[in-house]
Amino acid sequence: MTFRKKYDVIVIGAGPAGSVAARFAAEHGASVLILERDREPGIPVRCAEGVSHDGIAPFIDIDEKWIATTIKKAKLVAPNGEELLMENNPTGYVLERRLFDTALCNLAAEFGAELLTKADAFDLFKEAGEIKGVKFTYRGKEEIVLCDVVIAADGVESRVGRWAGIKTDLPLEDMETSVMYQMTDIDVDPDCCEFYFGNEIAPQGYLWVFPKSRTSANIGLGIAGSSALKKKPQFYLDQFVQKHYPAGKINYIVYAGIPTSDTLNQIVADHIMLVGDAARQVNPITGGGIVQGMIAGSIAGKVAADAVKERNFKTKFLKRYRKEWNKRLGKTQKTMYAMKEKYLGIKDKRFNNLVKAMNKIPKDKLSIKTLFTEVVKNDPKLVIEVARSFVVSKFK
Ligand SMILES: Cc1cc2nc3c(=O)[nH]c(=O)nc-3n(C[C@H](O)[C@H](O)[C@H](O)COP(=O)(O)OP(=O)(O)OC[C@H]3O[C@@H](n4cnc5c(N)ncnc54)[C@H](O)[C@@H]3O)c2cc1C
Repeated sequence: MTFRKKYDVIVIGAGPAGSVAARFAAEHGASVLILERDREPGIPVRCAEGVSHDGIAPFIDIDEKWIATTIKKAKLVAPNGEELLMENNPTGYVLERRLFDTALCNLAAEFGAELLTKADAFDLFKEAGEIKGVKFTYRGKEEIVLCDVVIAADGVESRVGRWAGIKTDLPLEDMETSVMYQMTDIDVDPDCCEFYFGNEIAPQGYLWVFPKSRTSANIGLGIAGSSALKKKPQFYLDQFVQKHYPAGKINYIVYAGIPTSDTLNQIVADHIMLVGDAARQVNPITGGGIVQGMIAGSIAGKVAADAVKERNFKTKFLKRYRKEWNKRLGKTQKTMYAMKEKYLGIKDKRFNNLVKAMNKIPKDKLSIKTLFTEVVKNDPKLVIEVARSFVVSKFK
């Protein structure tokens, strides 16, 4: 096996979490190498590509090159077909993830991080049980690169955490099964994201239509793993597509799991931190993880650079990352996780009633905030159930 020169920090995975982690570590003085197993960041795209402006703007200057559409409206469709159009939302985007991920990675490079593509990490290199580097294959050869800190940003199918002895597996109910079609030759509103709910549409989940232009969109759904055992998600998606876009063309299909749990109990050990999907830092209700991964990456990257400065790579030091994550988003994720079951398990009739009530509110007063107010007013029992599940989860 060949040894490469040593780096302070090795980041495994050039997704949003990894690239932002690399950028922050490099920006704060560490030497950084990113290992990415694919031939370029961002491919294959396994994402509906929706983000909020406010979520990504702190990390990168908005560039229309990687924006497919700017989203101003959201349409919620109740199980009975009644629509609720919300126009007072913060600006969102549907991205070109391939270009966006590359731009994030280029930014890391501007701060001094190096990138090696087609480099597939297959184990951690340890001496006397202590992590000292990463083993990977590159151009058919096995190599070792030494480092002081590993940042595992290897996505939903993460293996790096396991190599470090961290428990990363999730129960079936906390892993959504999703399928998505990237479709063309369809007619969609290019500034509106649509969300469909209902037991016949996406049981314990939802279906999305995220426009990429006037004639193309990412159309997919995620359902709880337990529901997927009864009927495959593709059954529901085909049913929907045949009804709404019978003449559309499917360009490519994505099958993937989406973690909808709380953040892992352990995301730090001596010499290693887990970020993004690898740490299960995903919004458990929406399944969105791009911004969450970027926030986690920014914290972990900075902590890694601080560890290098202080020559302290022990769990106790690296736990600064966990502490800051909890402050920034971890606590919110825990709350959402506690609410997930109740929101996603909401019966069709209740959802229909809610949308009906919301439609009575004047359009200019309609917002996410009023949506919650209406839930409280119209369905106090649901609020009590959510509160109860939250309290129970807190004391578990
Ligand atoms: C169908 C679907 C739709 C989604 N829609 C949205 C959405 O609209 N909005 C949103 O915010 N989120 C969405 N998500 C979630 C989002 O895609 C992820 O949360 C996000 O990509 C996580 O970023 P990450 O950097 O942690 O991991 P990833 O983006 O998965 O990046 C991981 C990287 O690690 C690399 N890698 C893995 N193993 C190795 C290895 N051994 N060696 C080297 N490299 C390795 C991979 O090639 C990959 O480049 C969706 C997910 C799915 C499945």
